[in-house]
Formats: sequence, structure tokens, C-alpha cells
Amino acid sequence: MTGSPIANRSPVIDAHGHLVPPSLLSRIGAARRFLPDVEVVRHGDRLSALSMPGLDVIRPVVEGLTDPSFAEQWMNEHGIDGQVVATWADWFGYELGAAQGAYWTRLVNDLQMEELRSKRFLPLAILPLQDTAASIAEAARAHDLGYRAVTIGCSAAGDELDNVRLEPVWEALAGLGLGVVMHPSYHATDQRTSGLGLPNTVGRPHDTDIAVARLLFSGVLKRNPGTKLLLMHGGGSIPLLWGRLQRNAAIAGVEDPDSGRQSLWLDTVVYRPDALRFLVNEFGSDRVLLGSDHPFPIRDPEPLAIVKNANLGQRAEAQILSTNAQEFFQWHDVRAREPQLPATHKEIA
Ligand SMILES: [Zn+2]
Repeated sequence: MTGSPIANRSPVIDAHGHLVPPSLLSRIGAARRFLPDVEVVRHGDRLSALSMPGLDVIRPVVEGLTDPSFAEQWMNEHGIDGQVVATWADWFGYELGAAQGAYWTRLVNDLQMEELRSKRFLPLAILPLQDTAASIAEAARAHDLGYRAVTIGCSAAGDELDNVRLEPVWEALAGLGLGVVMHPSYHATDQRTSGLGLPNTVGRPHDTDIAVARLLFSGVLKRNPGTKLLLMHGGGSIPLLWGRLQRNAAIAGVEDPDSGRQSLWLDTVVYRPDALRFLVNEFGSDRVLLGSDHPFPIRDPEPLAIVKNANLGQRAEAQILSTNAQEFFQWHDVRAREPQLPATHKEIA
């Protein structure tokens, strides 16, 4: 499959990629006095990993994570015109103290706008979820910079996302019209997932399941109906569990999950066409977005194939490959704006 640059036709958009500003790791070294608890771990001559509070395993940076040209070449080979890029979920920084967390977030968000935003990439802002007021402030600042979506983890500094202290953050995100890409963690799930590749196979979906079930049952999504939440990996097990969620609502006296359903979108990273057909049947073709999880090894090696092979029809294909992402991420609006970068990241030059 050969890619082509974005022309007059609708761009094929991968809503689930990962990319880190090329200069981020080197900037951290210069920012030690602002980020004393963030450390670049070297492997030989290479800047190969990042140590920060809360990481029980320090994993090396995978090939391509800090290289936009690597991603572009892969996109060209796979027929993808544009990619929505999130930072690495290992590096959300929620376990940093408040001041460092705020600094880290601003640094990442500024560098992403400076180094990643282009015709082909649309970065997602991060938030310092360990601090409610700082998160609200950063959401507003990110919106001013030109971001139209953020990415968050499935829990924050030991708090679940339905924690009452985070309700104002949900209100702020919905009020600003910022989409939310919720990405599960490699590190958040229990020790039973250690080894055998289980963190990526069942650990991450489990992380998503817990977070979404809590947001639905607690009524956070019902109270904030403007929330736009994109779930990774096809929403984990949530689509298949929906009947069980409804049954639980009936017997446990919690909010009906259907009261929050309007807030949920899903990606296509489920690897099997029949699984994708199930997602589309359950949630609608207007709720599913192409994803890849590039550049991680578990990525879908042929992201467009699952969409083609699911035999969903031309209209649904166009929605999943392009239209839904354009709308969710306000793709054209973001690209039309020049980012108004403040001098935050220059403080550490
Ligand atoms: Zn991912």
C-alpha cells in the first residue's frame, strides 16, 4: 500500500499514534532545577529512557518514538495521510509534585506544538492531573495554544478519574470543547499481569475497563454530556461488557451506563475484522476512528486492512478512516491556526 500526501480527497487519519518532541530528552537535562525528579537514563551514548516518580519499570524509548520522519515513512507505506500523536503514557508525570508536574506539562505541551504540529501530525496536550486547579489552567492554556484535544491516563496519582476532586476538570474540558483521548498505562494494573506480555494484552484493556465503568456508574459522563472521550484499543472490554454494565446498574443502584454512552468513541486497534464489525454494530460507524498504536511493537501492522476487511460499506469506511477523526479532533481548525507559543520552554534554554 502506498501513501499519498493530503490532497483534495479526504485525508486518512490515524487517531492513535505516539510521538515525542525530538528535543524533549535533551531539554530535560537542561531543566534539572525545574525537574529534579525527572532523569534521563543513558544507554551508552544514547538518551534511551526516562526515570520519573511512579514508574516501576523504566523502559527504553522504542525506535521512532522521537523521530517524526520515521513515523512519516511508516505512514507513507501504509496509506495514512495524517496522524494524531500522543506522548508516551509512561511519561504523563502524574506522580511528580505539583510544581514539577505543572512545569513538565507546560514543557511537553509547548515542545509538541513547536516541533510536532505539522501538516501531517496533530499532537495532544497533557494535563497535570495530580493538581485540579493546575489541570484546569493548563487545559485553558492548551486551548489557547491551539490544541483541540488532550490525552490522559486511566487514573491520576492514585485517584480514580471519577474522584470528586477531578469533576471540575471534566467540566472544564467539556466547556472548552477539548476532546479527551484516554490512554491506559503499562504500569497501572496489578502484579498478576507481570510477564508473558500481559501488561499490553490484558493489563491495558483492564485499565480502560475500570476507568470507563467508574465514569459511567458514577454519573460523571451523565453530568458532563459534552465530554468527548476516545477510548484506545477498541475500548478494552467495555463494548462486550455493556450488557453486564446495564445489569449491574439495575441491581447496584448506580447510573445506567447508557446515560454516558453519548461521550464514548473507540479506535480500531482490535486486530480482527469481526471484532471491528462488532464495535461498529454496537456503537455506530460515526463512533469509531482508525488507530494504529505506532510505533510500539504491538501496533496494528496494517491499520487500514482491518477497516477494509470488515466489509462495512463505503460510507462507514470513510467515516472511520477520516470524517470521525476530522470532527473529533477539529482537524482543520487546529491546522489552520498558528500556535501562540509562550516563552515557557525557553526558560530552560
Ligand atoms: Zn497507544
